[in-house]
Amino acid sequence: EPVVHRTDAVVIGAGPVGLFAIFQLGMARLRCHVVDVLDTPGGQCTALYPEKPIYDIPAYPKVLAGDLVDHLLEQAKPFTPHFHLGQQVERLERTDGDDAWRLTTSAGTVLEAPAVMIAAGAGAFGPNRPPLPGIEAYEGTGVFYFVAKREDFRDRRVVIAGGGDSAVDWALSLSEVAARVMVVHRRAKFRAAPDSVARLHALAESGAIDLVTPYQLKGLEGDGPHLSGVVVADLDGNTRTLEADCLLPFFGLATNLGPIATWGLALERHQITADPATCQTSAPGVFAIGDIASYPGKLKLILTGFSEAAMAAHAAYGVVHPGEALHFEHSTTTGVPTLP
Ligand code: FAD
Repeated sequence: EPVVHRTDAVVIGAGPVGLFAIFQLGMARLRCHVVDVLDTPGGQCTALYPEKPIYDIPAYPKVLAGDLVDHLLEQAKPFTPHFHLGQQVERLERTDGDDAWRLTTSAGTVLEAPAVMIAAGAGAFGPNRPPLPGIEAYEGTGVFYFVAKREDFRDRRVVIAGGGDSAVDWALSLSEVAARVMVVHRRAKFRAAPDSVARLHALAESGAIDLVTPYQLKGLEGDGPHLSGVVVADLDGNTRTLEADCLLPFFGLATNLGPIATWGLALERHQITADPATCQTSAPGVFAIGDIASYPGKLKLILTGFSEAAMAAHAAYGVVHPGEALHFEHSTTTGVPTLP
């Protein structure tokens, strides 16, 4: 028999919006548990761009994504949330007594709560993998889908594949530390911010970056975990091998709701339909906030998600305490409350 955790609210997803939801739930004196399939909190900020500066968080003219996550964790800390990391929420259903929601994770953890905040971002997000035979053997050693630390690439020969903003930005950035940066793209034209593309071409002209276009990825060379080369082919199928230690394919994020699509919630494409007044989904007590929420005019921005977390936490109070409305107070009046 699995241990059943009973709490006021379960937050699915520990991205920036899920983390702020912990705080907002706490301000409403609601306890919560948080589940994320990744091993570390922070969602896209941690997994995809921890060292990039964000410029549109209110009152932070500039904040590194990783630092934003650290601040959100610190802000949530007084409410002692329970994290269940490295596990995916697979099932969401009513409890036998129909008095709460029951969530079951891939690790067999069972959580029960009257309110659920789905802050699952792009869902079971993962990188689009290039279809190269045997690529799994190099993932984490020679093939990386995001840059956690720029320093990891110092003095290494790096092949970057892709033609969008990520590929161009990282080519510019890594050219400052890597021994060599080669950019493989199947077209001569890059689809990224014009300033960045201009800088890329300038660096290519000065020899600081090699542009390998129009070419596509064809295969990998090396022994098991150690990559030694990346095979590329032109449009006529002529191949050449680029000697390299690392390959960084930037082919975008696969957005796939994963198990969430099977929970019977009203959906719009890859998002969950939410009531813009409360963020409640088609299921009473289940809220959708952050990138996963859809309503007319929705902006997929962190700051919008923060506001949705506040609205959903207020509405969740009425779900946890039926018939009671949350008395609205400013944090300057209440301070950070201690949970009952
Ligand atoms: P996410 O950050 O996507 O987090 C969702 C979490 O839910 C993930 O950790 C995922 O593992 C987890 N999850 C999903 N399904 C399950 C499940 N079934 N069980 C358990 N866990 C699950 N936004 C800005 O406002 N300003 C910017 O400057 C900016 N720059 C960006 C730059 C880049 C390169 C990228 C990729 C995005 C940028 N964004 C920016 C967008 C911003 O990162 C997203 O809007 C934000 O991360 C959304 O937060 P979230 O918490 O809703 O979802």
